[in-house]
Amino acid sequence: MRDLSLQVLKALAHPARLRIMNALREDEECVCHLTAYLRQRQAYVSQQLMFLRRAGLLQDRKEGLRVYYRIKDPRILHVLDAVNALTNGKEERTARQVIATCSCPKCETQRRQTGGRKWKSKSSVPVAPTA
Ligand SMILES: [Zn+2]
Repeated sequence: MRDLSLQVLKALAHPARLRIMNALREDEECVCHLTAYLRQRQAYVSQQLMFLRRAGLLQDRKEGLRVYYRIKDPRILHVLDAVNALTNGKEERTARQVIATCSCPKCETQRRQTGGRKWKSKSSVPVAPTA
């Protein structure tokens, strides 16, 4: 249990890892989805995922050739919420994004469900109207 809180904070103190954590808030995702989401090389993304897993924030499971990551302890969401609140939520308050270039099973299923309807742009995140 040595320096565990420090490990957690260190794990979050990195832009790519923070984005990964926010992307995993609602559900598990496979490495290829996170790679497409971050637009980084897979080796780089895997490295960040490894870091988060070692810090005890994520757990992984294999399904065929794919590796899925999920948040291990939902209490970390409180920390993410606090961080997001401090930055006025600018740092990713994500609804799940279907990524046009992603070939993960979830993106493919969601694309099929929308009946091949074209996405307006690369980011399909709804923009909240400003008050
Ligand atoms: Zn995907």
